[in-house]
Amino acid sequence: MADVNISGARKAYGGLNVLHGVNIEIHDGEFVVLVGPSGCGKSTLLRMVAGLEGITGGTISIGGKIVNNLPPKDRDIAMVFQSYALYPHKTVAENMVFALRLQKQPAEVIKQRLQAAAETLDLVPYLHRYPRQLSGGQRQRVAMGRAIVRSPQVFLFDEPLSNLDAKLRVQMRKEIKELHQRLKTTTIYVTHDQVEAMTMADKIVVMQGGNVEQIGTPLELYDRPRNTFVATFIGSPS
Ligand code: ADP
Ligand code: MG
Repeated sequence: MADVNISGARKAYGGLNVLHGVNIEIHDGEFVVLVGPSGCGKSTLLRMVAGLEGITGGTISIGGKIVNNLPPKDRDIAMVFQSYALYPHKTVAENMVFALRLQKQPAEVIKQRLQAAAETLDLVPYLHRYPRQLSGGQRQRVAMGRAIVRSPQVFLFDEPLSNLDAKLRVQMRKEIKELHQRLKTTTIYVTHDQVEAMTMADKIVVMQGGNVEQIGTPLELYDRPRNTFVATFIGSPS
C-alpha cells in the first residue's frame, strides 16, 4: 500500500516562506492533481515528496513510513519532469534501463522490465533509436518508460506535457490516464492547467500562494467551490 500523507508541510528558502503548512491525504492508487498558478509552490511540494528538497516543518509519509530524512533513492517513487532530460547519446532502451543499472539489478530483471514497459508504452519498435530520431510524443513516452521500469509505489509528474503542442497534449493526457488505469500506481500530477486537472484527476488539490485552497473531486470543485479564488480558477478557460 502506498498512501502518501503530507501533514503540516512547510518550506522556507532562506527567509522566504513558500509553503505554509500543507495537508494532503492521498490514498493508495489515487490520481491526485496539484493545480494552481505559477509560483504557488506545486513543484516545491512535489520535490519534497521526492526528497529532492528538504522539508522545513511537518511530515511526509509514504506507505505509512515518515520519509522526511530519507534520500530520494530510498523512497519508492519515480518522477517525470517537464523537460524529458533524455540522454541524447543513449538509445531508448539504454535511457529506460539506466536507473536499473545504477541499482545493480540482475540482467534478467532489467530485460524483463524493459520489455514489459516498452510493450505498455508502444515503444518496442523504437528501442534501438536515439532520442533525436523520435517524435515529441515518443520522447515523452520514453520519459515515462524510465519511471515505469522501476515499478515504483508512487509516480510524480511535474507538468509533463507543457512542452507539447495542444493536440499531442490531449492525446498524452489520455495515455497517462490509461496507463494509470492499468497500473493503478498512486500518482501525484502537477499542472497549472485547469482543464488538464479537471479531465485527469480523481481528486484535485487547488493551491495558491503556498496554501491549499480546496481539495475535492472535479465535480465537487465545480459544483461547490469554497471561495472566489477556486471558482474563478477552476471556471476560467486555460
Ligand atoms: P510552482 O511550481 O507552483 O510554479 P514553485 O514551487 O516552483 O512554484 O515555487 C514556489 C515559490 O518558491 C516561488 O516563489 C519560487 O520563486 C520559490 N522558489 C522555488 N525554488 C526556489 C529556490 N531554490 N530558491 C529560492 N526560492 C525558490
Ligand atoms: Mg512548477
